[in-house]
Amino acid sequence: MESVSENKSLDFIREIVAGHVRGQRYPDGIVTRFPPEPNGYLHIGHAKSICLNFGIARENNGRCNLRMDDTNPAKEDVEYVDSITGDVNWLIQGWADHCLGLKDGAPYFASDYFGELYGYAVELIKKGKAYVCDLSPADTDTYRGSPDKPGKDSPFRLRSIEESLDLFARMKAGEFPDGTRTLRARIDMSSSNVWLRDPILYRIRHTDHHHTGSAWCIYPMYDFAHCVSDYIEGITHSICTLEFEVHRPLYDWILEGLDLPRPLPHQYEFARLNMTYTMMSKRRLLDLVQSHQVSGWDDPRMPTISGMRRRGYPAAAIREFCRRIGVGKVENTIDLSLLEFCVREELNRTAPRALAVLKPLKVVIDNYPDGQIDLLEAVNNPEDPAQGSRQVPFGKVIYIEQDDFREEPTKDFFRLAPGREVRLRYAYFLKCESVVKDAAGQVVELRATYDPATRGGNSPDGRKVKATIHWVAAEKAVDVEVRLYDKLFTVADPSDVKEGADYKAGLNARSLTVINAKAEPSLAAVRPGTVCQFERLGYFCADADATAQKMVFNRTVTLKDELAKIEKRKG
Ligand code: ATP
Ligand code: MG
Repeated sequence: MESVSENKSLDFIREIVAGHVRGQRYPDGIVTRFPPEPNGYLHIGHAKSICLNFGIARENNGRCNLRMDDTNPAKEDVEYVDSITGDVNWLIQGWADHCLGLKDGAPYFASDYFGELYGYAVELIKKGKAYVCDLSPADTDTYRGSPDKPGKDSPFRLRSIEESLDLFARMKAGEFPDGTRTLRARIDMSSSNVWLRDPILYRIRHTDHHHTGSAWCIYPMYDFAHCVSDYIEGITHSICTLEFEVHRPLYDWILEGLDLPRPLPHQYEFARLNMTYTMMSKRRLLDLVQSHQVSGWDDPRMPTISGMRRRGYPAAAIREFCRRIGVGKVENTIDLSLLEFCVREELNRTAPRALAVLKPLKVVIDNYPDGQIDLLEAVNNPEDPAQGSRQVPFGKVIYIEQDDFREEPTKDFFRLAPGREVRLRYAYFLKCESVVKDAAGQVVELRATYDPATRGGNSPDGRKVKATIHWVAAEKAVDVEVRLYDKLFTVADPSDVKEGADYKAGLNARSLTVINAKAEPSLAAVRPGTVCQFERLGYFCADADATAQKMVFNRTVTLKDELAKIEKRKG
């Protein structure tokens, strides 16, 4: 299992933090934050940021605040606040007591600081560092220029402090319609960094907010709200993705301009996670949900944390994935199969085994006593003796996997064929004596014999078989619906679509196959969320869609181990 001391080589951000801890730069401890905007569900990219921010807090006996960065009322919703809170708690389960920063058991909300933020904005105006501007949104853009074209001063830039204070108060009081005025920082319209060209700090939006209701009709911009929220919460290290690097001078400009008494937070940037066959734009994920390409944000094919959880990915596997990919400053794309490898590795250790047949072929064992049900001992998890064993019923009629039989076997096929003997897992040697076909010539049933002396799987006469196959006893089997998932996209980089093209063209039409399978009776009592290994087939997670009549299982991941291939490709 992972441990706090396991990170032997520190990433560059942890190095910086370690230096600050050694130098006792923050006597009150290390405080980070994870600041999602509640405008969608969290995805695997967010998991990287969560593991980094909460990980650093945990490793340094610090705290990481979960903060809703909710300054944009239009697209935000409590549904997202709740899902984000649930997903974070799930992902850092076991860590939370040590590092999760909450306020009275709930997340922090940037919108709780609207009053304080307003006060700081007034202070900037009083210091001559901000002014109310009457340019329209379109003119504001034009005046700003572009990286290769200098900006032009707004005609309102020299407005007096008194007039700006008066107008800002009236903006807050609701006197002006949306888009008619903004509060802007007075920095430098000719700066080579466009973010410093008198950025907007506040805009007017006569829209209710999911957390503050109708209390406000002016809302702070991200760049103003974020640094001040960090300061208010006593954040020491404000860690974000690389696209915010160009915002950092503004982050510092605002905080330094406010003459604040406590130590200021600092921003550090790392490369975001990109992954093959995966799209991480919340806007597009929302579009997939709204256009019913998937069943919801928690569809097991979604790259969301709730989707992966429903699919059966353990939190520990996602954390291990984040540990393996590391944290750096160069953007790259991680192979989806690395995540699957981590999932297999974790589930191999933890998941109980079970017998299930996805594509059943009926086998009648002619020399087995009619009506007799035997109970055979089966190991629950060979990787974990503590999981013990269970009893699996065996009878005269069993199902085996269609793929485990060939009427005319090729040279490299060692499983069942007419006249051939194989081992039934935990049971007996079984020999196929003949086949039964339907009118179309399809094999629909096998007639077979078993050797009672081979109970438990070995022959006393030393006879060898070349294959062991799984099975379920027909009389005791339960019907289960199994949902087989494949990649949601067929293209490796679904977000790389040309202007005007539809990213949905890359969707995999066969990403979901639903089949009816037969399973050993113990699977009828599995609780939703439990992942089992169906022997020889893969890992399967019980879904909450189950009914009293029928269990439903999502295939989490197949058994095939592709890490060797990944490493070969890299080397
Ligand atoms: P949007 O898609 O709406 O632009 P976002 O993906 O940036 O949003 P936020 O809610 O703003 O989502 O993200 C919260 C935090 O997660 C931010 O600090 C952001 O930098 C980080 N984050 C988002 N995507 C990734 C990613 N792919 N890899 C690592 N961190 C990420
Ligand atoms: Mg964002």
